[in-house]
Amino acid sequence: MSEDLNMLKDHYELAIIGCGPAGMSAALNAKIRNRDFVLLGSEFCSPKLSKAPQVDNWLGFPEIGGEELRQRFLDHVKQKEIPITQFKVTNIYPGPPYTLIGKDQSFEADTVIIATGVTTGKLFPGEAELLGKGVGYCATCDGPLYKNKQVAIISYNQEGEEEANYMADICSKVYYIPYYSGISKLDPRIEVKKGRVQKILGVQMVEQLDLGEEQLSVAGVFILRDTLPAEQLVAGLEMEESSIKVNHKLETNLPGLFAAGDCTGQPYQLIKAAGEGGTAALQAVKYLDNLKS
Ligand SMILES: Cc1cc2nc3c(=O)[nH]c(=O)nc-3n(C[C@H](O)[C@H](O)[C@H](O)COP(=O)(O)OP(=O)(O)OC[C@H]3O[C@@H](n4cnc5c(N)ncnc54)[C@H](O)[C@@H]3O)c2cc1C
Repeated sequence: MSEDLNMLKDHYELAIIGCGPAGMSAALNAKIRNRDFVLLGSEFCSPKLSKAPQVDNWLGFPEIGGEELRQRFLDHVKQKEIPITQFKVTNIYPGPPYTLIGKDQSFEADTVIIATGVTTGKLFPGEAELLGKGVGYCATCDGPLYKNKQVAIISYNQEGEEEANYMADICSKVYYIPYYSGISKLDPRIEVKKGRVQKILGVQMVEQLDLGEEQLSVAGVFILRDTLPAEQLVAGLEMEESSIKVNHKLETNLPGLFAAGDCTGQPYQLIKAAGEGGTAALQAVKYLDNLKS
């Protein structure tokens, strides 16, 4: 199902970020419209859908389990020969064309659909203020900037361990603050901290991480969530409370940038996510046609 990262091209007409119901539905519609697109996602698409014990509101499939529905979605995407490229987008530079940045790689897209789901939890105090000034979302991307320095990695999943291990080779000290249970393989040089983040402190740059009972002196703080807060993904994106603000065409305030699914707000439902994904793809196709003419 997934595709080798080396297969990524330098440029696409459309990039779809997120492989949940919204992203997969967008991809199906883009495929039917014969567009040059890429569907980007995590290794497991999507954890939320799989966690639904029983879905009662998906038309035509009463009482279907979330995992079964997930498999059906994946089978459908596979049957249409749509690869899912494992690529976590950590930043989008304004466009069009937009530049999508991830670990070790970047590429361009004329239009983008954000279908990244909803972030659970609020930003940490100090996170927004110090973003780009020591706060980041991809340790391996920024690693060399922190050579021989002390950093902290706050991770919501085991993928953070790989990033921490990489940083242990570069940094003088790596603290690891897991927000999940069951650390699997962490380099012994890394110090695990059980405290909970109270605040990220610094004036021009990050200086300290406040864990309540102790303060860590660090130059960098990396926060590795399953889903990045949308407003941190792309600068200038208009939000409404914690959701991406869209109109009925799923357009955001940025030209050629659409959003679909849970990230556009409530209700957090499969049918809304899939419907918005399809609509966003059709609107993106229209946008591309207008660009050409
Ligand atoms: C326990 C539970 C039960 C539920 N039961 C129901 C139900 O019965 N009926 C119902 O209608 N809904 C239900 N839901 C809600 C439903 O699962 C969501 O509304 C739906 O999954 C939203 O789809 P989405 O595509 O917007 O986001 P998601 O399903 O969250 O998918 C987003 C995907 O994007 C990926 N992603 C995120 N950020 C990035 C990035 N930066 N780069 C690349 N990929 C990224 C994520 O890894 C994820 O795979 C339930 C949810 C839960 C948690």
